[in-house]
Amino acid sequence: MRSACRYNWRMERRTVTPKTSAKGLLLIISGPSGVGKTTITHEVERRLGGRFSVSLTTRPQTPKDTEGEDYFFVTRDDFERARNGGELLEWAEVFENCYGTPRRPVEEALARGELMILEIDVLGAGEVKAKMPDAETIFVLPPSEATLLKRLRARRREDEATIQRRFARAKDEIALARSSGTYRHFVVNDDLERVVEEAVGIVRAARGGEGSMTNDE
Ligand code: ADP
Ligand code: 5GP
Repeated sequence: MRSACRYNWRMERRTVTPKTSAKGLLLIISGPSGVGKTTITHEVERRLGGRFSVSLTTRPQTPKDTEGEDYFFVTRDDFERARNGGELLEWAEVFENCYGTPRRPVEEALARGELMILEIDVLGAGEVKAKMPDAETIFVLPPSEATLLKRLRARRREDEATIQRRFARAKDEIALARSSGTYRHFVVNDDLERVVEEAVGIVRAARGGEGSMTNDE
């Protein structure tokens, strides 16, 4: 379930030691902007009862974004305070804004044996995978460049210049993802139902397997 409260960096100060759980799973979903990550994540969450990690970001909130559900929108100062206080599991600068994953909710969810889903970029995914090698990783590909551009426009979130900047970055992101060695699965988001089934199958297989989700740090 997505929580709907404002981010309070002080909340993250307490250290939580994750307990071993064979069922907890950290699922990382990455892919170019507009490819359908959020749409897929919502469906996987709905079908499997997972939890979506709400990131901190310094990017401006758009009318399409809900505070506490899509992101916690914070100032640079607040972001830096959270980062310097060790409250972020990972962070990265994407499209000239900072994005980061609050550490504590992830550790707590995994300690409870839950499915936790991170929708983060390639660099952040590499950072998490290095700390938590049991994390399952999916990179979502568009069926074609034209479809990606169509989807970026379809969500009506940004102006055309921003859409073009995001679109221009897609090729590099895909190349980086392929060379990174971070992703176990590359899935094409053509038919939504099919790709959601594929993601659900990946999660079920990973949760059925051996291994625990604790932080190696
Ligand atoms: P992302 O989170 O990767 O930026 P979104 O989930 O916001 O992408 O999806 C971008 C747009 O594409 C949305 O309008 C969404 O409804 C649409 N979309 C997502 N997956 C599909 C699909 N398989 N077929 C058609 N439209 C899709
Ligand atoms: P958007 O602004 O479109 O919501 O997200 C832009 C990019 O930032 C996407 O690639 C998304 O996956 C990535 N992103 C969102 N949250 C995080 C985060 O907490 N950490 C990292 N590393 N990337 C993130």
